[in-house]
Amino acid sequence: ANQVQRKPDWLRVKLPVGKEYAHVRSLVDTHKLHTICESGNCPNMGECWGAGTATFMILGNICTRSCSFCAVATGRPLAVDTDEPNRVANSVKLMQVKHCVITSVDRDDLKDGGSIIWAETINAIRRESPETTLETLLPDFRGNWDNLKRVTDVRPEVVSHNLETVRRLTREVRIQAKYDRSLECLSHISAAGLRTKSGIMLGLGETEEDVFEAMDDLLKAGVHILTLGQYLQPTRNHHPVVDWIHPDQFKRYKEIGEEKGFKYVESGPLVRSSYHAEKHLFEI
Ligand code: SF4
Ligand code: SF4
Repeated sequence: ANQVQRKPDWLRVKLPVGKEYAHVRSLVDTHKLHTICESGNCPNMGECWGAGTATFMILGNICTRSCSFCAVATGRPLAVDTDEPNRVANSVKLMQVKHCVITSVDRDDLKDGGSIIWAETINAIRRESPETTLETLLPDFRGNWDNLKRVTDVRPEVVSHNLETVRRLTREVRIQAKYDRSLECLSHISAAGLRTKSGIMLGLGETEEDVFEAMDDLLKAGVHILTLGQYLQPTRNHHPVVDWIHPDQFKRYKEIGEEKGFKYVESGPLVRSSYHAEKHLFEI
């Protein structure tokens, strides 16, 4: 695929401002808190933090997988930190997060896939901040659905697992994952009666037909909420950006997706899995 270098104008964002943002900013600095918003250098920080949303990454910052789009380091992860659930819960409380999104690296090295720490983290946040709603962006647990169940049993308000790309590109974009296993993961989440969410990045070389096929597959798996955003290349060693998808095309995908049956499609160049996440708490 040929690489497109220059970012179009619609991907430029305003610098974060505002009282709420400044408040969160100072808490994060003072208490040395860790968010994926900052480590991923997400362009939406001003907006999300201003609205009381933040995304935390648990189970360390070294992943056992090596997806070609992802900036997280690959390698042998450190031992599980059993104090992590409490630290994250304290951070959420300090930051007064209204809607908390949690994600993790993939821990294919662990028997429980990290699911015990996942469940403990959710419980600790519930204990410390009972008003805070929770969204968990989960790995596929390598198809170990007992591990998945350990997390869905704690019943986060929204449970997501990202398909990341269309069927045709899955091998080149996320080598250790499987398109059908991700769909199965989502089926288990929705069968548990939970708000189920998934996301796809666009601009990796997919066609419109590929995207429609993915939408149909996600709907069959019982997914309620879909996020679509422009893929951005973290470094030159990552998968190239093949296309810049025009904002009008994102709108078209939203309309078609909602016509097809999603309860809600969040679609736009700057959309990330956790973007506007607090708006996805409607009844299913
Ligand atoms: Fe953080 Fe997600 Fe918002 Fe980006 S979109 S600032 S990662 S909550
Ligand atoms: Fe990144 Fe997740 Fe892939 Fe790990 S599994 S490399 S954290 S996208």
